[in-house]
Amino acid sequence: MSVLEELTNRSGNTCELCGATNELNVYEVPPVSTGGIDGSILACATCTGQIENPETTDANHWRCLNDSMWSEYDAVKVVAWRMLSRLKSEGWPKDLLDMIYLEPEALNWAKATGEGLAESEKIIHRDVNGVILENGDSVVLIKDLKIKGSSQVAKQGTAVRRISLDRENAEYIEGKVGPTMTVIITKYVKKI
Ligand SMILES: [Zn+2]
Repeated sequence: MSVLEELTNRSGNTCELCGATNELNVYEVPPVSTGGIDGSILACATCTGQIENPETTDANHWRCLNDSMWSEYDAVKVVAWRMLSRLKSEGWPKDLLDMIYLEPEALNWAKATGEGLAESEKIIHRDVNGVILENGDSVVLIKDLKIKGSSQVAKQGTAVRRISLDRENAEYIEGKVGPTMTVIITKYVKKI
């Protein structure tokens, strides 16, 4: 079964955010790492459009989150959390945000896009050239690096694929060098 078919079954063929029944499609909740049904929701064009274009956000549309934030699916709750965070200055979304409960792992996922943070609070990761790094990007090492806790050295030019960002520290990313998951300092990498 395709992801679309699985989500259609899961949702009863309705938008998992607002309950609309037309123009439904798969929305992969960013940063897309797992994909598949657990990383996606079924959403209508109105919801997806507003999620992706913050300037078109109509706060009243999102009163639907009053219901959908209680979804049993993390992907739905993550999107609900992000939209409530985006809209919290309206007042009522802040009240809902105080009530929504996400497991720690889901909360980290929700926060991964920086939604709801003021620009100054956002942790932005940049490579040696100042290019912004995102979860899932690939980078190349620009110098030989010792791998912490081992005698291995990762050579300059080594590609590290599908990095993940340290949410607490803008100078650290994580990625696999060979078989080893390691922390890498952003100023020693270049995005490819
Ligand atoms: Zn919708």
